[in-house]
Amino acid sequence: MKKFNFNAGPSIMPREVIEATAQAVLDFNGIGLSILEISHRSKDFQAVMDEAVALFKELLDIPEGYSVVFVGGGASMQFCMVPYNFLEKKAAYLNTGTWANKALKEAKNFGEAVEVASSKDKLYSYIPKDYVIPTDADYFHITTNNTIYGTEIRKDIDSPVPLIADMSSDIFSRPVDVSKYTCIYGGAQKNLAPAGVTFAIVKNDALGKVSRTIPTMLDYRTHAENGSMFNTPPVLPIYAAMENLRWIKAQGGVTEMERRAKERAELLYGEIDRNPLFRGTAAVEDRSLMNIDFVMADEYKELEADFMAFAQSKGMVGIKGHRSIGGFRASCYNALPLEAVQALVDCMKEFQKNH
Ligand SMILES: *Cc1c(COP(=O)(O)O)cnc(C)c1O
Repeated sequence: MKKFNFNAGPSIMPREVIEATAQAVLDFNGIGLSILEISHRSKDFQAVMDEAVALFKELLDIPEGYSVVFVGGGASMQFCMVPYNFLEKKAAYLNTGTWANKALKEAKNFGEAVEVASSKDKLYSYIPKDYVIPTDADYFHITTNNTIYGTEIRKDIDSPVPLIADMSSDIFSRPVDVSKYTCIYGGAQKNLAPAGVTFAIVKNDALGKVSRTIPTMLDYRTHAENGSMFNTPPVLPIYAAMENLRWIKAQGGVTEMERRAKERAELLYGEIDRNPLFRGTAAVEDRSLMNIDFVMADEYKELEADFMAFAQSKGMVGIKGHRSIGGFRASCYNALPLEAVQALVDCMKEFQKNH
């Protein structure tokens, strides 16, 4: 049976990217060796690194003065790298979910970290709007897409202090005005590459401003100044990222990714809103285009397990909601074809007919 992959992360990647990566594992560039068994400093791998960075800059239209670095440790390690590198006295955080909260918690180890606003009161189902960013903060940290709760900040907001964003789960799903940010980071395994590599886009002249000593490996300058080759980088995930960036470019870039994301989201939210058996959990104006959360309507609560089984029998994979919210979550990343969303919508319609 055909499977429709709605996994939240690690998640769907374009088939072509997986095949090209598999080929590089078997015989890289026709050199008769696997990419897994050559030096990261070989000219063949250096070309991969250079192309991945160049495509990052091209696709996101990154202005001069920014570095793109690849490191390990996941987005979770960025939760400490950010304050290590940017927090001198005080940082401000917008608490929009589990990941934002973890980032905030980590920053508290480095200085004063204030929660500017939180949507915890309503199980993170909305993005707080009326908040004031303290002008004496070293930076303001946001999580643009809340992977678990299905809310998203799709506009590049204006901030009176340097803006830093965790874009783990919506990078390359829309054009971004990078000039508005001092740092953008994310784990690759949602919308970019397999797990194991983390990207950071950092404004060079914002580095080296804090008075503390930064461990070498946690200093963005180490990676920026050495082209992400200070130590052995995660070569295979970087290779897959490069192939995925080529794929995005060939499809029409981030504008096309955004068009597709809107098309998928409109189709699925449309059905959630139409079908009396279901309801969405996120505030309509803050709905994520990437992670679409929904539950059974209150009067049909007891049908949850039945719908899950039915959807699975029709090939849906990974639609179980996160344990902190329940219900269902359809992650609709760049590589997800509209056909998969249509299959899920058909499933919801058929389930309604049967009940
Ligand atoms: C998944 C996720 C993380 C954690 O990423 P790791 O790479 O597993 O550390 C952080 N932030 C957001 C928004 C995420 O979706």
